Amino acid sequence: MLNIRRFVERLVFTLKTKGVVGFILRVATLIKRFDFSGNKMKEAVLTIEQLGKKYKYRPAVIVPALVLKRHHRLLNSLSGASLECAIHGYTHKNFKPLGLDEQVSEIRKAKGVFEQLQIHPYGFRAPYLSWNGHTGQAVQRNNLLWESNETFIWNGFKKSHLSKLRHFMEKAISVLYNPLDAPKSVVIPRLQGEIVCIPIALPDDEILIDRLGFKDSSTISGLWTEILECTHRRGDIFVLQLHPERLPICREAMEGLLDKALNSEQDIWVTGMKEVAQWWKEKGRFEFAFEAAGKGWRVHCQCTDRAVILGRNLSGKASQAAFYRDYRVIEERDFLVESENRKPCIAVHPQCSQELLKFLGDEGFPYEVSDNSAGYSLFLKDYETFGRKNELDLLNKIEESPNPIVRYWLWPDAQRSAFVTSHDLDCVTLTDFLLRLFGR
Ligand SMILES: [Zn+2]
Repeated sequence: MLNIRRFVERLVFTLKTKGVVGFILRVATLIKRFDFSGNKMKEAVLTIEQLGKKYKYRPAVIVPALVLKRHHRLLNSLSGASLECAIHGYTHKNFKPLGLDEQVSEIRKAKGVFEQLQIHPYGFRAPYLSWNGHTGQAVQRNNLLWESNETFIWNGFKKSHLSKLRHFMEKAISVLYNPLDAPKSVVIPRLQGEIVCIPIALPDDEILIDRLGFKDSSTISGLWTEILECTHRRGDIFVLQLHPERLPICREAMEGLLDKALNSEQDIWVTGMKEVAQWWKEKGRFEFAFEAAGKGWRVHCQCTDRAVILGRNLSGKASQAAFYRDYRVIEERDFLVESENRKPCIAVHPQCSQELLKFLGDEGFPYEVSDNSAGYSLFLKDYETFGRKNELDLLNKIEESPNPIVRYWLWPDAQRSAFVTSHDLDCVTLTDFLLRLFGR
C-alpha cells in the first residue's frame, strides 16, 4: 500500500538533499534519462557490461532489492559473471537515522530477495551514501564481504579554479556528504572486523552534472583523470561512482579512464569491488617473522605469490629502482637485513590506540606492541588517539626514519594503485522513480 506520509517524508528528504533547484532539475532530466519500458537503463547496463568485458574487469552495479525484483528479467546480465551485483538497500531508504537492528533487518531482507533470484551479493552501499556508526556492523552481521560508503573529495576543491565546484563542495560538506579531503587523507580500503570498507571518490557524475551543471565530457574527463593520476602517484584506490542514467554523458570519460589506467604505465590495477575486498583480506593475513642472525635479522615472509614486498634503507638493495617513494622491491621471500640491534619492524607503545595498529596493518607494516624504544627501527608513542587526520603524518614519520623498514605493498602483482567502477542503479523506469517517493 502506498503511504502518503512516507511520500511527504521522502519529498522533504529529497528536497533537503538535492535542494529545490536540484530537485526541479532532476525531474526535468529524469524524463530525458528514463522511460516507462526500462529500455534506456537496460542499454546503459549492457554498455557497462561491455566495457567491463573490453577492459577485463567486473563493474559493480549496486541496486535496491525491490528494483532488482521488479526488473530482474530485463536486467538479466546482473546475474551473470560479467557484472557484480551488490545491495543498495531493500528500498532506496535513508540509513542515517536507523539503529543497528533496523539496518541489519533492511540488509537481510534485501539479501533474501537477491538470493531468491539466484544472485549472491557480496557487498553493500547505503542509499544516498547515508551510513552511520552501525552500518559496518550491520553489513558484517549479514555475512557480506564489503561495504562502500565513506567518501573522499578530490581535485583539491578548496583551491579549484572551478569556483562552482569550490562553493558547492563547501556547502555539501556541511550539509550532506561529509566527505574527507582526499589530498590530506590516505584513500585505501580498510579492514573492519571481517568487512572490507572501500572508499568512494567524489565528485561523482551526480555532483558534476546535476548539481554543478557540467555537461561537456571533456571537463568531466579532465577532473576524473586528475583523480586517476593522483591515486596512481599515491598508491591509493579510485572508486568511480557513475549512475547508469548518466552513462550517455559520461561514457567517453569512463572509457578514457579505463584506457589510461590499462594502457599508460600498466601498473594501475583495474578490477572489481569483490576482487579488491578479497585481496585486502588476503593481504591482511600476510605476516613477517624476524629472527636474529649475526649482525642483522633474517626476515621470513608469510604471504601468497601475489604479494609485493618492499623495503627502505636496506643495504644491498640500493641498486634496484625505487617502486614507490624510496621503497624498493625485494624479490626474495626469505632474506637478511643488516641492522645491528634494531629489528626492522615498528614498535608501538602499549598505550597507543587500536586504530593506529589497524592502520599499520592496512598499510602492510609489521609491528609489535612494546615499550622497548631502542630495539626496533621505529618506536611510536603518544598516539592515545589516532584517526584519519593523523595518517599522512604517520606515513611521513615512517619515511623519515633512517633505519631499515620492510612492508607489504597495498596492491597485488606489482600494481601501484587500483581503479574500480561502481554504478548505483537507483531506478530502472520512471515508475520506479515515482514508487521511490513512496518508499517502495
Ligand atoms: Zn542511490
